[in-house]
Amino acid sequence: MIEFKDVSLVYPNGTEGLKNINTTIKDGEFVVIVGLSGAGKSTFIRSINRLVTPTTGSLLIDDEDIITYRGSNLRKLRTKIGMIFQNYNLVKRSNVLKNVLAGRLGHTSTLRSILNLYKKDDVGLAYESLKRVNIDEKLYNRADELSGGQQQRVSIARVLTQKPSYILADEPVASLDPPTSHQVMTYLKKINKEDNITTIVNLHFIDMAMEYADRIIGMRAGEVVFDGPVSEVTEKT
Ligand code: ADP
Ligand code: ADP
Repeated sequence: MIEFKDVSLVYPNGTEGLKNINTTIKDGEFVVIVGLSGAGKSTFIRSINRLVTPTTGSLLIDDEDIITYRGSNLRKLRTKIGMIFQNYNLVKRSNVLKNVLAGRLGHTSTLRSILNLYKKDDVGLAYESLKRVNIDEKLYNRADELSGGQQQRVSIARVLTQKPSYILADEPVASLDPPTSHQVMTYLKKINKEDNITTIVNLHFIDMAMEYADRIIGMRAGEVVFDGPVSEVTEKT
């Protein structure tokens, strides 16, 4: 469970990224955050794995306030949160399998990755994960040989090998065409339901949000201006 309690975040230049956020995201929910560029969606998501640090308030993840986390606490937090980015963040010149195994190695074992030392189980898990997003035939292709949609599916597979409790997706379909966007959203939703992984996705478009979300959080100028189930959305944000 993720609980924002009076969370505000002011960037060093004085910009208010988040203003007094109060919201709770329950285990297993599929939440979509919508709002115009600059609304604070990215800041909201990045607070949860502490790529940015709120200035005031408390942000509880599984009952622990993560705002003051440092060092090993922070690393532990990040192993249970899978991140998906707009631009996929794959190692372009590495092959698909290696990219996916990076999720298994986590943030600490770059040495093992350099030496190509993978556990057999990890390779199996990577393969299974790629199969779940239908891209297991591209194992030995370089990441930069794949289309945008294929790269985003590889990044979903990478997150799956991490066996996370949470998935945070920051504009995962902003660089993709509409059919490919729907495909990626469908995989995210399927994984959310099958594995019960709490998922938070930032999107620009309310129509797509309405199609996939259990619940929508609308943001404007750092504030939550709507928070409720899709059935309660009446007006475009
Ligand atoms: P969104 O994801 O909805 O586009 P962001 O969370 O990226 O919004 O940004 C919210 C506000 O914070 C914007 O006004 C943006 O310019 C500002 N902002 C984001 N990152 C920084 C930063 N590192 N330093 C200063 N201001 C920032
Ligand atoms: P997006 O629209 O995908 O959220 P942005 O272009 O807003 O991306 O931000 C790209 C990077 O620049 C991010 O790391 C963000 O934190 C930073 N950033 C955004 N707005 C500002 C700002 N006003 N001042 C400084 N850094 C910013």
